[in-house]
Amino acid sequence: MKPVEQFFAEYVQERTAFYQTEIELLAPLRQKFFSPDCRYDSRHGMVEHSRAERILRVSESDGETLLETSGKHSSEKLPLRYHVRASDDSWRIYQVETQCPCRGTEAAPKADCRFCGGKGWR
Ligand SMILES: [Zn+2]
Repeated sequence: MKPVEQFFAEYVQERTAFYQTEIELLAPLRQKFFSPDCRYDSRHGMVEHSRAERILRVSESDGETLLETSGKHSSEKLPLRYHVRASDDSWRIYQVETQCPCRGTEAAPKADCRFCGGKGWR
């Protein structure tokens, strides 16, 4: 069984390559219909932000491994929490949550947050 960190690094690498291919496939369409300065739907920064996603913390909870990461979207700038479980000879991602904005710069979520119910993730 490979370490979960290696599993995640492979996922980030393959996902980033896929995004790169997608952008290349879209290039003719972009050239035909869009001005070069129009960023709408351009996937601008997508490859760079995908590649930059890093694990910040690994923990265990209820038989799952939780990977908190730096996130992958420039617009959201929010950490993500992956719920990962061992599966055969590798791992599988079962759920991905976004850090609730109620945490802001403080570590603790708001106990009465209407979005996350105080969990800090949603
Ligand atoms: Zn919240």
